[in-house]
Amino acid sequence: MRKSILIIIYKKTLTYLVIASILAFLVPYAFVKATNEKRISPATPLTGKIIVIDPGHGGVDSGTHYGQKILEKDINLKIGLILKTAIQAQGATVFMTRESDISLDDQKKNGSRHREDLNARVRLTNTSNADIFISIHANYIRNSSSTLGPMVFYYGSSEKSKQLAESIQQSLNTLSGYKKVGTKASHSAHKGNYVILRETMPPGVLVETGFLSNAIDRTLLQKESHQQEIAKLITEGLIRYFKHPEDIH
Ligand SMILES: [Zn+2]
Repeated sequence: MRKSILIIIYKKTLTYLVIASILAFLVPYAFVKATNEKRISPATPLTGKIIVIDPGHGGVDSGTHYGQKILEKDINLKIGLILKTAIQAQGATVFMTRESDISLDDQKKNGSRHREDLNARVRLTNTSNADIFISIHANYIRNSSSTLGPMVFYYGSSEKSKQLAESIQQSLNTLSGYKKVGTKASHSAHKGNYVILRETMPPGVLVETGFLSNAIDRTLLQKESHQQEIAKLITEGLIRYFKHPEDIH
């Protein structure tokens, strides 16, 4: 009788010891795993996506301009580089068509310099295995200095490009800079027959970030806080496109 009680106690102790040893292994492992997971950013709808950003113009090609100092190519590059960081932070891989003040034409080739520059951007996009393509520009309109605000263009026959354009436009329509000066800038996404949209294979958009012909846009587009907000809202539009296409209208 006493012997069997001892055996039971011994067995119980053994069981506790086994459980304690297993826990001793698992608890530190779980802790290390949790701290590791903290260091790796959580997955987002952009994780693993490949995105080409094309800051329009560059080098000898200033794009549009206001006076001698406000050049479209500079604004495009600044916004493009901020956008690159914003999109990378969401876990996407970004390819830039340019990251400095250069044009992409090869002078040795035949044909116009402008066309060669566009061809190089198209080639880079079509060989990058990209999920989407974003070209960044700034606008100018003669005889309508009151027209303002960002406008997003897509190539007509691509349903996905249309969805992407509408999603980005929807986000850009909420830019805070206009409200602060007591005005509004709201547009719909537009069809645009641009080489860069027509000849690139992935769904893509051309974002005209504002009008250099408009005084409010000119001031805003040179402000870093406004450039940051544009990049943030484009990224928000991309996330909506990949995650909730049904919310786009
Ligand atoms: Zn342009």
